[in-house]
Amino acid sequence: MIEPRAGLGVGGGYHSPQLDVSVRLNTNESPFSPSKELLERWYSEVTASNLNRYPDRSATKLRGVIASYHGVDPSSVFVANGSNEVIQTILLTYGGAGRRSASFEPTYAMYETISRTTGTSYFAFERDANFLIDGKSAISQFDDNEIDVGFLCSPNNPTGLLEDLDIALQLSSGGKRLVVVDEAYGQFNEVDSVQFAKGHSGIVVIRTFSKIWSMAGLRVGYAIGDPHVIENLWSVCLPYHFDTSKAKLAELAFEYVDEMEARVGFLRAERDRIMDFFETLPVTYWRSSANFILFRPDSIDGHKLWEMLLERSILVRDWSRWPRLDNCLRVTVGTAHENDLFMEALGDIL
Ligand SMILES: *Cc1c(COP(=O)(O)O)cnc(C)c1O
Repeated sequence: MIEPRAGLGVGGGYHSPQLDVSVRLNTNESPFSPSKELLERWYSEVTASNLNRYPDRSATKLRGVIASYHGVDPSSVFVANGSNEVIQTILLTYGGAGRRSASFEPTYAMYETISRTTGTSYFAFERDANFLIDGKSAISQFDDNEIDVGFLCSPNNPTGLLEDLDIALQLSSGGKRLVVVDEAYGQFNEVDSVQFAKGHSGIVVIRTFSKIWSMAGLRVGYAIGDPHVIENLWSVCLPYHFDTSKAKLAELAFEYVDEMEARVGFLRAERDRIMDFFETLPVTYWRSSANFILFRPDSIDGHKLWEMLLERSILVRDWSRWPRLDNCLRVTVGTAHENDLFMEALGDIL
């Protein structure tokens, strides 16, 4: 039988095991659904639309809505089925055979995975002991290795730490290369990379509906960048890749910004409550600007702790055997009740 193209690493793709537990705090989703009113309005708009026709191929209305939310021009907006598809489109356009991408580990694993599936050579550079990027060495690493596309995740998954956007700007080298700032958790802190990136042609900011908008199941993501870059993404993606129903969903969602902000505000407060609790325990943790917290128990094996939490039906993400993340676990902020159960269990065990 014919084999897949060499170098794809087929079989080793993205996976975060879902086990049947009562408290699921392992994949950074929102614990809340989008509002019923939004979903009902969506349903009636979808059923009233011409689904026998192809969608508006360039999602004109939605681009206008996103553009006005961020105060940019609609020509600066690309939309796709989740930010992973945005990343894939960026790498199909600016990566590929003979091109090089890079990021700083540990970071979101999809930069490497999608680089591989698009035939882009991925370079994994290191962070310092505090999981931060050293600007000077980063720039020489990008220059020496002739990197075409860089990824900065801010706040970074899985550390929760914000990146220094000045480094993104320097790495983009005036537009000579593309630096993608992944703001999947943008709303969980005060930084707005879209505002920062305005007027800088080498920076593209990507956002997703999966975390702050409580819609991981519906797959919506977008990119904001220089109109020339964005136009190229629109020509490389599949025709009609973004369907009518999803465009309507995302358009409507922006009428519910207040609800989104209330949910995010609650999760931020809960995040701070968990971090305050960590202060009282024998753990090391990293002050998070996202909806998750990376932590490492001081006196017990990380994987063992993960198992003991699992015995109490609490699932967190196990990074304990991952390079550079020895013994670390990552907990996603859940409902107040879920967080109570997590903290109670952790307090007991430690
Ligand atoms: C969760 C996450 C995403 C989301 O990807 P989608 O395809 O939009 O669901 C993107 N980037 C990072 C860093 C994430 O943690």
